[in-house]
Amino acid sequence: MAYSRLVKPLSSDLLHLTVLRSERLAPHWIRVTLGGGDIDAFRPMGFDQWFRLFLPIGGEAGLDRVPAKANKMFGYLKFLRIPDGERPVMRNYSVRAYRAATADAGAEIDVDFVLHGSASDGTAGPASRWAEICRPGEHVLIIDEGLAFNPERGTGRVVLVGDETALPAIASICASLPADAAGTAIIEVPSQDDALEFPHPEAVAVRWIVRPHDAQPGALALAALAETPLPDAPFHAYGAGEQSLASGVRKHLVGERGVDKNAVSFCGYWKVGSSSPTSKAARETAAEPLA
Ligand SMILES: Cc1cc2nc3c(=O)[nH]c(=O)nc-3n(C[C@H](O)[C@H](O)[C@H](O)COP(=O)(O)OP(=O)(O)OC[C@H]3O[C@@H](n4cnc5c(N)ncnc54)[C@H](O)[C@@H]3O)c2cc1C
Repeated sequence: MAYSRLVKPLSSDLLHLTVLRSERLAPHWIRVTLGGGDIDAFRPMGFDQWFRLFLPIGGEAGLDRVPAKANKMFGYLKFLRIPDGERPVMRNYSVRAYRAATADAGAEIDVDFVLHGSASDGTAGPASRWAEICRPGEHVLIIDEGLAFNPERGTGRVVLVGDETALPAIASICASLPADAAGTAIIEVPSQDDALEFPHPEAVAVRWIVRPHDAQPGALALAALAETPLPDAPFHAYGAGEQSLASGVRKHLVGERGVDKNAVSFCGYWKVGSSSPTSKAARETAAEPLA
């Protein structure tokens, strides 16, 4: 996974959480709300905060065997020793929204899952399939990973570019920006119905791009970026989604439009044709903590 310098989380503890409910939002979207368990130990950071999610695909017993620091080299090697079939599936997801505890309810985290591929022909990934069938009461684990959108690079003027997997992150970034922030968000989605509106500062213009079925993911968002006027410098640019989109945003802005590379945060979220993490990516991830 290619990424720029990240902002560390406040805690990297393994947190046990429970599925509280799930809701179908659109053809390719399911929102799973997590809470209970260790939720009080979760430290929200806003922006595009993301986490490792361990899903009990082989049964909940496997969750008890996930070692601390399973996102770092030694922990990850121990994680791999959990037998196939019992080992939970580890994937990366974003905090779409965090709600603090109230007098009546505990704190909650919303996670928006893209539904991709098809369960019948085996092209849907395990996380996408799990989101469709998970039930309240089911357990998961998370490890907070912090932010890829580094607010120190600026929050006053932004250019945000992503595909559907980055929509939760971009929506959450917009919720964290100051009300007078300005700029552009370009978001590519698989259908008009999947363009989930979200609150954003008035002067951040949101442009939705609907991707035809046979188009290369991210290509249209990149083409839209190329024809979009940029805000006056300094501004903070952010690219996330399919690997070639995330790295393409950086390449285009730095190489063709002369943007300072330190003003661009980017993160490859998935790769056409590869499960996430690929074993190589997993090894790299584990060997080089994303810090
Ligand atoms: C920091 C970070 C934050 C992320 N946040 C979110 C989030 O909030 N919501 C979200 O839905 N995703 C998010 N992702 C992306 C998500 O982790 C990947 O899409 C992941 O591959 C899904 O796992 P899976 O088990 O469903 O599919 P995998 O087993 O990983 O992949 C199976 C096959 O499906 C393909 N594939 C994977 N994802 C997609 C997709 N979205 N569309 C089409 N084909 C795909 C792969 O190329 C592979 O061929 C994030 C990724 C990162 C790194």
